[in-house]
Amino acid sequence: MDNSLFVYNSLKGEKEVFKSILPDHVGMYVCGPTVYSNVHLGNCRTFISFDLIYRYLMHLGYKVRYVRNITDAGHLENDADEGEDRIAKKARLESIEPMEVVQRYTVDFRDTMARFNALPPSIEPTATGHIVEQIELIKEILEKGYAYEVNGSVYFDVLKFNKDIPYGKLSGRKIEELIHNTRALDGQSDKKNPQDFALWKKAEPEHIMRWPSPWSDGFPGWHLECTAMSRKYLGSQFDIHGGGMDLKFPHHECEIAQAESIDNKPPVKYWLHANMLTLNGKKMAKSTGNNILPDEMFSGQNNVFSKAFSPMVVRFFMLQAHYRSIVDISEKALEASEKGFHRLLDAIVLLEQITPSETTTDFELQSWKQNCYQAMNDDFNSPLLIAHLFEAVKFINSVSNEKQQISIQDLESLKSSMHAFFFEVLGLAQPNANQVAADNSQLEGTLALLLEIRNNARVSKDFATSDLIRDALLKLNIQINDGPEGSSFKIN
Ligand SMILES: [Zn+2]
Repeated sequence: MDNSLFVYNSLKGEKEVFKSILPDHVGMYVCGPTVYSNVHLGNCRTFISFDLIYRYLMHLGYKVRYVRNITDAGHLENDADEGEDRIAKKARLESIEPMEVVQRYTVDFRDTMARFNALPPSIEPTATGHIVEQIELIKEILEKGYAYEVNGSVYFDVLKFNKDIPYGKLSGRKIEELIHNTRALDGQSDKKNPQDFALWKKAEPEHIMRWPSPWSDGFPGWHLECTAMSRKYLGSQFDIHGGGMDLKFPHHECEIAQAESIDNKPPVKYWLHANMLTLNGKKMAKSTGNNILPDEMFSGQNNVFSKAFSPMVVRFFMLQAHYRSIVDISEKALEASEKGFHRLLDAIVLLEQITPSETTTDFELQSWKQNCYQAMNDDFNSPLLIAHLFEAVKFINSVSNEKQQISIQDLESLKSSMHAFFFEVLGLAQPNANQVAADNSQLEGTLALLLEIRNNARVSKDFATSDLIRDALLKLNIQINDGPEGSSFKIN
């Protein structure tokens, strides 16, 4: 039986045996968030997918250096190098410093990922912390002749690059198609061709986020930071580059072009892309209202679902789909996952209380274990792994009901496998007290009642009672927020 790990390489469009460049070591780069708003649930899915991949590689014994950047400058509203910087725009709208925007949403991102029990990456570099490296990279690309300077901005020359090294390998887009499909330059642009992309942009006088460079006071293009940071921390060739499917083009395609323009060799061995998340059968979008933030799901304070779902249930739900398929989130599906998650967790608790028999085991433990590994070795097939875990749950329950037996030795082995897959590989955890609270509709009802009593107390100016309730709840990490439309609570 083949125990090799197979991964689906987007660059080849097929599954390949995974073989790391250096034995026992893996370098993995994943495009991180642009920190200008609360992290999107769809982005969480991408990062949970790569958390699974990171965890499984480590479980297999690899020493993994996992680099995931924070984009805190250079990401414009529009992919064609137009529009405002997303962070600068948010800062302008809220009359705060861009770095306040960055700080607020970096904290939100890390906090949300921690609640999903995602491990932090080995290195989390920021674009603004690597301006020097990005300027050096532009100089190298200019020296190779694949970039040009116009009016203080520097652009990558896609057509010239394509003459020497084919462009479009990852997305499968042909340069002729791109020329045909991109709209003509409007005369305002300095670019020679619309396919070209910015490496450095000269800042307009009102643009706050600017740095000195040999060409102008300006800022780096978005695609450049990932090339600069992945090269710095993982070298000019590394094993895995990941990100959401939507980043394949133009972002990842441009990363490849930038790196190959310098070295003329592929920077990445395996490109992995996680698919998107839809909500109630439709694309998630703030503009249509078909949207929900992770925090709103955990607290139950939203108009989409009738109850709260804990981070572990949402994580389990996401892992019940393969990372390359689209997954649709709905109340019904989440409720099913909630039941499944608790059934699995109950069985793990039950395992500790089982009395083994002397000799016999009514379960093919070795082949079951083999099946679990085979599932994960087939491009990280977590839904199949979970299905196998449920076979074990059935057996555990029937041993507990004294219908089947397990030997002492097999019990230990089953325990250690269940723990390894549940906690280590899938990254699930016992819900902590807060998460249990969020799961528990009885507690929610009690909280609603307390809020009502407190509101009545406030109306009759009985502030001693209303403060007593607020302070007592705060001690339990439940925060009451008084707003114009009444009071609400938040479980911290
Ligand atoms: Zn990137």
